[in-house]
Amino acid sequence: MPNNVVAKTEYITNIEQLENLTQQERVELKKVTNKFTFRANEYYLSLINWDDPNDPIRRIIIPQTCELDQWGRLDPSDEQSYTKLQGLEHKYDSTALLLVSSVCGGICRYCFRKRVFINAQKECLKDIDSAMEYINSHQEITNVLLTGGDPLVLSTAKLENIIRRLSEIDHVRIIRIGTRMPVFQPSRIVDDPSLLEMLSKYNNQHRAIYIMTHFAHSNELTDLALKAITLLHKTGVEIANQTPLIRGVNDTPKVLAALLADLSFVGVVPYYIFQCRPAIGNKAYAIPIEEGYDIIEQAKAQVSGLAKRIRFVMSHSTGKIEIVAVTDKFTYLKYHRAAKDQNNGRFFIFKRNPKAYWLDDYEEIIRDYPADQPYRSHGPE
Ligand code: SF4
Repeated sequence: MPNNVVAKTEYITNIEQLENLTQQERVELKKVTNKFTFRANEYYLSLINWDDPNDPIRRIIIPQTCELDQWGRLDPSDEQSYTKLQGLEHKYDSTALLLVSSVCGGICRYCFRKRVFINAQKECLKDIDSAMEYINSHQEITNVLLTGGDPLVLSTAKLENIIRRLSEIDHVRIIRIGTRMPVFQPSRIVDDPSLLEMLSKYNNQHRAIYIMTHFAHSNELTDLALKAITLLHKTGVEIANQTPLIRGVNDTPKVLAALLADLSFVGVVPYYIFQCRPAIGNKAYAIPIEEGYDIIEQAKAQVSGLAKRIRFVMSHSTGKIEIVAVTDKFTYLKYHRAAKDQNNGRFFIFKRNPKAYWLDDYEEIIRDYPADQPYRSHGPE
């Protein structure tokens, strides 16, 4: 199979090409796509039930005028502040991120990295030699996440070049590939045996490859997507799924439970559920934290233990913070991963705020337990 799989794919980037929209809709949505890129393909669009105005796939991929509402930031998790060189982020000691692509197989309307599509020249990895030198000189980096954009948009030859070079660094023990191609374009996997061979070659007893998928709704688990998952499993890689909780997509316990169960049925580990980041354009897609917690707990109650191996987290600029519990008066948050060592395991109790979308929206702190002295709270007793 040639390494030009992606070049052969027809992408739809002009909203005016969508015949299922009315002329008025196309005119209105052009204002949105002038600001935020639109990208889809025939396969993913074919999953939409156009008779249903609330179809979840439509909600994921078709722009909406509410994206123009003022809200959020271009870089909601302050990734820039952890960027060591262009396209390389190092926030947690053990993990480095390489932004290896500025393109995805489609564009989720709720994307938190819109800045990559707006300013690809300044965001993505340019100097691979320097990136490898950085990782090589930081022994603490045991995990490297390839992200972007979507790494599987790259040709297999380009991707292999990156994976081969990482595999020459002894202390890199996990290579993660964050990809939505099994969702947007499973043929990228199904039709490219060389990709599967390559994954199989570099996944070994010294270094594991994890495919981090992003299924947001069960309707995305088509026969073709399942075939892609089966083929990936045969290479020996691990597959884990992470998805944000998105209004109108997976924000009911029933829909979310179905997604978690369906993933577990095909051997994909449900890993993280993310609080939708306050990125520009995302207001209509975000759900307040405490409402999200209730949805997730009700979904978890409907599925087996294997289907609820998830954590509900927000990727805050200071670290990954788990929403541990919500009671009638309080919300309990805990650092799952922290940018600063002293925050690892730190635990907060806040007065509930049903309007909170992010850590910064919580004002009234009840107790703050430092990680190294969890028995000693800072705050009113
Ligand atoms: S796949 Fe990820 S990076 Fe790409 S558009 Fe969707 S959320 Fe953004």
